[in-house]
Amino acid sequence: MMQMKVLKFGGTSVGSVENILNVKRIVEAIDEPVIVVVSALGGITDQLLNTSTIAASGDMSYRTALDDIMERHLNLIKDVIPVREQHKILQHTTTMLEELENIFRGVSLIKDLSQKTSDTIVSYGERLSSYIISNVIKGAKLYDSRLFIKTISQYNKHIVDFESTNRLIMETFDPLPKVALVPGFISSSKENGDVTNLGRGGSDYTASILAAALNASILEIWTDVDGFMTADPKVISSAYVIDRLSFIEAMELCNFGAKVIYPPTIYPVYHKNIPIQIRNTFNPDAPGTYISKEQNTGESKAIIKGISSIDNTCLVTVQGLGMVGVIGVNKRIFRALADNGISVFMVSQASSENNTTFAIKNEEADLAARVLNEEFALERAQGEINDMVVKKDLATVAIVGGLMKNTPGIAGKLFDTLGRAGISVIACAQGASETNISFVIKKKYLRKALNSIHDSFFLSEYKMLNLFLVGVGTVGGHLLEQIKHQQQKLMKQNGVKLNVVGIADINKILIRREGLDLETCIDDLYAIGMDTSTSLLKDEILQMNIFNAVFIDCTASDEIAGLYETLLNNNISVVAANKIAASSAYNNYALLKETARKRGIKFLFETNVGAGLPIINTMNDLINSGDHIFKLEAVLSGTLNFIFNTISEDIPLSQAIQMAVDAKYAEPDPRIDLSGTDVIRKLVILAREAGCAVEQSDIKTNLIIPANYFEGSIEDFWNHITELDAEFEEKRKQLAAQDKRLRFVASLNNGVCQVGPVEVGSRHPFYELEGSNNIIMISTEWYHDYPMIIKGYGAGAEVTAAGVFADIISIANIR
Ligand code: ADP
Ligand code: ASP
Ligand code: MG
Repeated sequence: MMQMKVLKFGGTSVGSVENILNVKRIVEAIDEPVIVVVSALGGITDQLLNTSTIAASGDMSYRTALDDIMERHLNLIKDVIPVREQHKILQHTTTMLEELENIFRGVSLIKDLSQKTSDTIVSYGERLSSYIISNVIKGAKLYDSRLFIKTISQYNKHIVDFESTNRLIMETFDPLPKVALVPGFISSSKENGDVTNLGRGGSDYTASILAAALNASILEIWTDVDGFMTADPKVISSAYVIDRLSFIEAMELCNFGAKVIYPPTIYPVYHKNIPIQIRNTFNPDAPGTYISKEQNTGESKAIIKGISSIDNTCLVTVQGLGMVGVIGVNKRIFRALADNGISVFMVSQASSENNTTFAIKNEEADLAARVLNEEFALERAQGEINDMVVKKDLATVAIVGGLMKNTPGIAGKLFDTLGRAGISVIACAQGASETNISFVIKKKYLRKALNSIHDSFFLSEYKMLNLFLVGVGTVGGHLLEQIKHQQQKLMKQNGVKLNVVGIADINKILIRREGLDLETCIDDLYAIGMDTSTSLLKDEILQMNIFNAVFIDCTASDEIAGLYETLLNNNISVVAANKIAASSAYNNYALLKETARKRGIKFLFETNVGAGLPIINTMNDLINSGDHIFKLEAVLSGTLNFIFNTISEDIPLSQAIQMAVDAKYAEPDPRIDLSGTDVIRKLVILAREAGCAVEQSDIKTNLIIPANYFEGSIEDFWNHITELDAEFEEKRKQLAAQDKRLRFVASLNNGVCQVGPVEVGSRHPFYELEGSNNIIMISTEWYHDYPMIIKGYGAGAEVTAAGVFADIISIANIR
């Protein structure tokens, strides 16, 4: 027989006028003979099944559902067939639709839907679509696959009888027309001729059976994606097309839920060594995916080729001390399951042999438990085997790649990734063929698991971090600006994609898993954001359950700081500009750090001290490389320094304070700066990072403004602070005469912490400290005679935002 091809077009490819015209173009451009297999119009199979259920319940609204189905077909004909040919085609289609209508009427009257009736109803989907499309493609000859795809019944399922099917196909297609049009999915019983089908998604299988029987040169599966991808693109936006796969790899991926090919499809063509090409009807120029016997050629050297998943998973465990060392328990388990038509897709048994766990579909769980409880009734009565344990609502994930064989570390990396995402593995299995590692997790973690694994195994163009920002005031606002500005560059140069999935302030929240539009998100927050509270905010974030998540706190709220522990415990990294948590009770600080460490995520707060200056990071680097910090001296209040530098003959203390507030150096309430509270918090954080377990109450404090000025309301403060103007000016003059300046210094010296005003002479490094700048001198074992000095802007929204940004990037780098 001459060379021929089989092309299969799925429901999505024949869903609309435009799509059908694409199919026509593709098929008519082929020179050699082709068999074109088509599915029902997109969504029709589901509609037929749903309408059957409605009719069987006696609910007359099935009529409306049926009208939709009828209309869709008739309208399509009017749109794709030239007017002069429409009459005949409409007539024939209407006849088929009337038959269908009669069957539905019967179902609704008798309120009974047998398997046979359901199979008959669902067959109309492909019968109608193939008839219509055969009239669209020039010269196409329509066939009826019920006449040559024959099934027999096994364990309540229809399976293909290859002996008769292959023979009938060869007879039917001899001679082969230029274009044969064949409905996919449907078949008939070899035993009694009843209409049957090959299972959901079965058109792929029809095409494969034809290709194998007729020795096609290739089987082309035309669908709605550019090829077989590293994961389902509907779940993972960064999934990309795999250019080549081996049959085995494709089979493993399909078996574990990659819907792009119906699993039984691979075997017939694999057996005949006929390659499969996955192509996109909507993008015919894309090369697609080539599936063949070759393990690994060309560029596809990736060890892991793809990830797929089955969300409908239940685990059944047969357990009991009486199982250990007894031969035949597994045989009985699997025989009992097979006799009842229950298919098992994963098995795991510990070497102690005291339990066997296997995965099946949720809907088969109760039956499985019942038959196994019966099978082992005797052993259960004697206490050797326990009652079956059934766990539902799980999901199975498989990572697949032919090159995993003999490559150590894959399982380690996989489970490490899951651990970091906070997902625990309930069962796992790796066959000795080493092309597939499968594991079972709770269904609610499926999306997160797929994303985390995809992110860690695939060289996608970028790594993704999902950011949630609370506080969109000056710092948060600048941060969003900076992210917006840098986003493209980070993606291109660093391979990091920052996806802002949510923003919130104290009473509004806006969430979008795919990422917010940074141009408009702050306006959107107030226009369409949901009302929220701290606890709702926490629930929303946890519910989002998103991978590589980072919570960014640009508030000064203690309620928000109170969320960190829960967030970290859910494997969400925290970047805080808010100082409250790191300066709270030592136990809390230590707990947060420990939680982050244990979970392999980050709790970062570089901007808590010195805004954007790299102080905490530098100290950590010194300590981690074996140095010891024994003395810290620092000017850490940009506000106080600004005030000291600004007071002059013309500018009194009170006005300098006002200027610091206006310039946004000061905290919104300047008393937090003036009372030293802010500096105390910073010193506590520094001391802790240097290894001292101090509390705020351990800090010796010398105030520059008497405590009674902080006691009343903020109005009282502004009303009375002018009283100190003269005294401050006097002090300044005195010091200036001695060539000295006043600095508010925080120090840690041999475990003793103190803050207060210090007069420094002109040779002291703190003397020349302009504006709101900060400075820190770090004396260590290595930096002894000449301490390390870090100096620069220590306040301001822009540099703080930049520091937060740097923390975020450092999280991206560890992933
Ligand atoms: P058709 O109607 O053409 O048979 P299907 O809906 O059955 O199409 O299969 C195509 C769909 O399979 C895609 O739209 C995609 O969402 C899904 N899919 C799941 N896993 C993968 C994967 N690994 N690669 C590509 N597509 C996948
Ligand atoms: N129309 C059938 C289904 O939706 C077969 C197929 O599309 O492959 O399952
Ligand atoms: Mg399909």
